[in-house]
Amino acid sequence: MALANENYLKTPEIYCFDEIEKRVNAYKLLHPNSNIIRLGVGDVTRPLPNEVVQAMHNAIDEMSQQATFRGYSPPQGYDFLIEKILKEYRKIGVNLAKDSVFINDGAKSDIGNIGHILGRDNIIAISDPVYPVYENATIMSGRAGVLNDDMKWSNIVYLKCTEETAFIPELPDEKVDIIYLCNPNNPTGTSLTKTELKRWVDYAIAHDSIIIYDAAYQSYVTEPDVPRSIYEIKGAKKVAIEIRSYSKTAGFTGLRCGFSVFPPELVVYSKMGEQVQLIKLWGRRNANYTNGVSYVVQRGAEAIYSPKGKAEVQELINYYLQNASIIRKELIAGGLEVYGGVSSPYVWFKTPDNQPSWKFFQQLLYEFQIVGTPGVVFGNSGEGFMRFTGFSSREGTLKAMDRIRGKI
Ligand SMILES: *Cc1c(COP(=O)(O)O)cnc(C)c1O
Repeated sequence: MALANENYLKTPEIYCFDEIEKRVNAYKLLHPNSNIIRLGVGDVTRPLPNEVVQAMHNAIDEMSQQATFRGYSPPQGYDFLIEKILKEYRKIGVNLAKDSVFINDGAKSDIGNIGHILGRDNIIAISDPVYPVYENATIMSGRAGVLNDDMKWSNIVYLKCTEETAFIPELPDEKVDIIYLCNPNNPTGTSLTKTELKRWVDYAIAHDSIIIYDAAYQSYVTEPDVPRSIYEIKGAKKVAIEIRSYSKTAGFTGLRCGFSVFPPELVVYSKMGEQVQLIKLWGRRNANYTNGVSYVVQRGAEAIYSPKGKAEVQELINYYLQNASIIRKELIAGGLEVYGGVSSPYVWFKTPDNQPSWKFFQQLLYEFQIVGTPGVVFGNSGEGFMRFTGFSSREGTLKAMDRIRGKI
């Protein structure tokens, strides 16, 4: 009899975003001609930069010729791309070892797969509210313990991240082994400054913990005191893995490409107390479980580092940031309590009259034909909040703001 992995049975059957679709579809059935504006999307909507498209066309042509055909990628990715990444880091004063960069098929893969190389008994800390993948990956890997009545898992440490802390996660009181940090943060749009992030690095050094630093939104940073990389903080190479993605940066959500950095300085411990370089385990995992990312896509990623590519990418980011800024200003003018939207495409705000998230979701949908993301889908502490994103069109964003002006 083949047995199932019981840990997979513990995660919620429906991914929380399906509930949103269900409700939107129910509305559409009743109101087939309504013009719904989606401010809930966590996906980019603008087409790929032209430089990326041209580079991929060229790469396809190379693949069609005997002399330039390529088979498997080198296990960690092609040098042409890794060199560009290293150069980009050097510009912010970060020198990374060449071997520390691993090209992947997007950040989400590594966020989940990292669990393969870490001991089962590690205590994992995540903020609440949180990007749901960190919690689900912890549950599916069997590290979450049991679900308590308050919908929290017994072995997960939830970092306080509420109005009181301005939605900046607070250091845990107890010792934790692995900390997921997302900066700038999804869903709250808030960001840790260098001073704040240093406290996390110092904590990790003091407790022999490691930080899994999700920098999927680093290209949205507009404030000088917000770091683009955790390695801008002294000592971080000893304790942090950094995961980046071209998804939100350059419109790669459908193409799939990103990378993770495993500094050779970063160590974990065996049961005997011996130090183990995590990069070694990651290399071993990669060699056995993946054959890398396609040549064509890696050429596409490389193109965003050319002067023209950079300009196009910046234009994309500015577009989404401008949308977020429009939303942020409108909500503040409406007297709401607003977070994010400055170094992030996400705007997080308190619902009017302290309504529960789902109740306000229904009001937005039925009165204004606007879809937001209820804060509570990201965790208990998100209750009473809502997330809007800057990923809609400019036209849709402006129209949505017109609809709610003076009415919520
Ligand atoms: C979108 C997103 C990702 C996913 O990135 P991919 O590279 O598309 O897998 C990772 N982390 C956060 C916080 C995100 O919002």
